[in-house]
Amino acid sequence: MTFLSVRTVTKRYGRVTALDAVSIDVAAGSRTAIVGPSGSGKTTLLRLIAGFEVPDAGRIELDGELLAEGRAAIPPHRRSIGIVAQDGALFPHLTVADNIGFGLDRKAPYRDQRILALMDMVELARPMRDRRPHQLSGGQQQRVALARALARQPKLMLLDEPFSALDTGLREAIRISVAELLRVEKITAMLVTHDQAEALSFADQVAILRDGRLLQSGPPRDLYMRPSDPGIAAFFGDAIILPAEIEDGWASCALGHVEVLTPYRGKAQIMLRPEQVVLSLPSGVHNGVQACHGMITRIDFNGPSSLISLSLAGIDGEVRAAPLLIKSARMDLPPVGSRVQISLIGQAHVFA
Ligand code: ADP
Ligand code: MG
Repeated sequence: MTFLSVRTVTKRYGRVTALDAVSIDVAAGSRTAIVGPSGSGKTTLLRLIAGFEVPDAGRIELDGELLAEGRAAIPPHRRSIGIVAQDGALFPHLTVADNIGFGLDRKAPYRDQRILALMDMVELARPMRDRRPHQLSGGQQQRVALARALARQPKLMLLDEPFSALDTGLREAIRISVAELLRVEKITAMLVTHDQAEALSFADQVAILRDGRLLQSGPPRDLYMRPSDPGIAAFFGDAIILPAEIEDGWASCALGHVEVLTPYRGKAQIMLRPEQVVLSLPSGVHNGVQACHGMITRIDFNGPSSLISLSLAGIDGEVRAAPLLIKSARMDLPPVGSRVQISLIGQAHVFA
């Protein structure tokens, strides 16, 4: 069921088209990640949904209620939407408790209890209630911003790169706990990030923006394994892209014959993710479809995995293509100069 519906929304700032006829549907209780390079329109999309900006054209609906249709829009405070900005945007002169309680009625009964419950919810220790933002770490400030946004029990939570100022380790821990909190509280959420790993792990749906246009949206696995163009493929991680000739569900390429899931025939580029490529010694047992043989020409060890350069040889032993770069976490790699068998797991994706 569509909970948030954004229909052909366009927003211009002077001659810049920040968003160009963007449409996206968000299901109730789900998590959507919006990814894209800087300047692609991510923040603009959130600000339009929150009501801080008014679209030039298009429609936005939340839970069956019309929020904006072209320039006719209802104001932000009537939208039941919480927003957490990149820098937290806390009020520097207010305590943690007053920041969190900012949107709550001053005379509301149980106001203090509600603030403490919100602090518990975002895992902020209660003694911090009297501190001011400058006495908190970056991670704690973001938790205060999140608690403040949760205070008014929003139907929708918008998170604009809320973790980007945090260190990697902390960032992952906070992201996981925020995702869990939103799931438990059944709050529909939209997260803006330029970190593809964050998007893939946080969301049920990922949408990619570039130059104000929505290029592709879908479940994380689909965007990763079936990106609509090589640029999107590269955005989500390393990709092996090879020219191929496709016929009857098979692609002939430098790796031999690779299965594809498309009725397309003819020349096209195919894509495999490096983790689909498995190396074994020619006599070894392999667990994918055997594709071809190669020789290890270089190994760059970098901790958890190694980057391996392979020169490929077809079944006839002839070298056919530029070296292939793959990653392997195997600890028992044979040395440079060894012949290896290359097997593939799953199918290749075709850019048709
Ligand atoms: P992102 O969040 O993806 O980095 P933004 O939505 O902030 O991108 O910006 C999209 C485009 O709109 C950019 O070209 C930006 O310069 C422009 N833009 C955003 N806000 C304004 C504004 N208030 N005035 C003029 N141009 C703006
Ligand atoms: Mg932004």
